[in-house]
Amino acid sequence: MRTVAIFRRELRLYDNPLLQDAERSEFIPVFFLDDYNQQEHGDNLRALFFHALRQLQHQIEAIGGRLYILPLAEQERFFDTVRPDVVRLCEDVEPHSRQRDKQLIDLLNSKGIRVQILRDSLLSPLPDGTYPSFTQFYKKHFLMHARPVPAIPAPKALHTPRWELPEVAIPEPESEAAQSWFATEEEVQRRWQSFVRDRLAQYEQSRNLPSQPSTSRMSPYVRCGMISLRQMLGDAWGVSEQFVKELAWRDFYSHILYHYPETVNMELRPEWRGFPWRHDEEQFERWARGRTGIPLVDAGMRQLLCEGWIHNRTRMVVANYLTKHLLIDWRWGERWLYLHLVDADLAMNVGNWQWAAGCGADAQPYYRIFNPLLQAQKFDPQAEYIHRYVPELQHASAEQLGDLENLHRLCPDYPSPLVTPDEGRKRFLQVAQQFFAERGQENLPFDRE
Ligand SMILES: Cc1cc2nc3c(=O)[nH]c(=O)nc-3n(C[C@H](O)[C@H](O)[C@H](O)COP(=O)(O)OP(=O)(O)OC[C@H]3O[C@@H](n4cnc5c(N)ncnc54)[C@H](O)[C@@H]3O)c2cc1C
Repeated sequence: MRTVAIFRRELRLYDNPLLQDAERSEFIPVFFLDDYNQQEHGDNLRALFFHALRQLQHQIEAIGGRLYILPLAEQERFFDTVRPDVVRLCEDVEPHSRQRDKQLIDLLNSKGIRVQILRDSLLSPLPDGTYPSFTQFYKKHFLMHARPVPAIPAPKALHTPRWELPEVAIPEPESEAAQSWFATEEEVQRRWQSFVRDRLAQYEQSRNLPSQPSTSRMSPYVRCGMISLRQMLGDAWGVSEQFVKELAWRDFYSHILYHYPETVNMELRPEWRGFPWRHDEEQFERWARGRTGIPLVDAGMRQLLCEGWIHNRTRMVVANYLTKHLLIDWRWGERWLYLHLVDADLAMNVGNWQWAAGCGADAQPYYRIFNPLLQAQKFDPQAEYIHRYVPELQHASAEQLGDLENLHRLCPDYPSPLVTPDEGRKRFLQVAQQFFAERGQENLPFDRE
């Protein structure tokens, strides 16, 4: 029996369905380098991803196997040389990946090679239909299917036959931000175990504080498959329902992208299509560089520039400020984060951006507009997070940070606000009210906040 396993996002040995019973047969792990992915992704994600791939290559070699790295264009020649009995791969919901997989499966079928499609980046099967709200998805689908299951042990030995194949080197994109995330699978396990031991039980209470190490910070490793979602679910089960729910949001957004691939660049909710988003490049640039004059927004955007990651609470605040207060197109924000996040994931990023803008699945109603000053008071009460990322504000107290009129005078290097929360809120409500009224939706509850 000869098995080929195509690695894509599952870059680990432990609890990896691609490696189930791998010791029992001739086992050929392969990774195909795809130009599309090279062009589509930012350097931060690419740097971490290829780091993880290199680690995996070493781990596989250490147990006697070989991970072949080949250009995608060599795929067919590879199968003709290797002549496997079965090819394994894991399902992927992204539109480009689905198209690629369809072509691959057709190719393998035409050669009479059996294909096994496995699940790794989802905890529940993709449902046939969609669920209108997260709560329904969670109760009626996720909790019915996602359960802790025994882990698949890491293989101790692999037997990979050797061929002369046109192997290529793993790229090494430059990224300072990604370097701080570089870790071995063993180190990722240690970080996860320490989160489970010390912080998981308090997760629900502390997860919204961006200055604290209160969340798992596993998303970059989840993105590259350096840790198993089933393991995370198993460890959180019965300890933190809130954490289990966060994992369920992943599945929720994946099923939305699977059923509505057009949402990559179009609002999920039809009533939002044609919304008069602004396309102000100068204001966008100031948002992207962390120079909006709104302290919490700027702290978040600067965390992104130096670490390639932003705390979830701050992601919500920066997305809300861009789309509501600045009225700038959510697609612009989505692309910027996608190109800079070390955990950039199409389904999660698009889903969350549309949620923040109001036009997506189970989204915030359009009249829910965060006040970024109140968000800072509530979730960064000592201004530790703001002080960490915005050095010009070092000497302003938490109270002074909330007084925008005087802040610029106190900290002259810090810009005055592009739009104050009050102005932004008023303008957005006016524009949205007019837009929906013109479309005959004037009965939407405009005055409910
Ligand atoms: C505007 C915006 C853009 C985002 N873009 C991405 C993205 O590109 N990639 C990404 O992985 N997450 C994205 N998120 C979701 C979320 O912010 C991150 O998953 C989370 O901050 C990762 O930190 P953590 O691992 O410490 O999370 P924890 O709080 O420890 O949560 C555990 C895991 O649950 C999952 N999770 C948590 N929150 C969400 C969520 N809202 N949606 C989906 N999954 C979630 C993640 O896999 C995370 O690792 C985005 C959120 C917003 C508001």
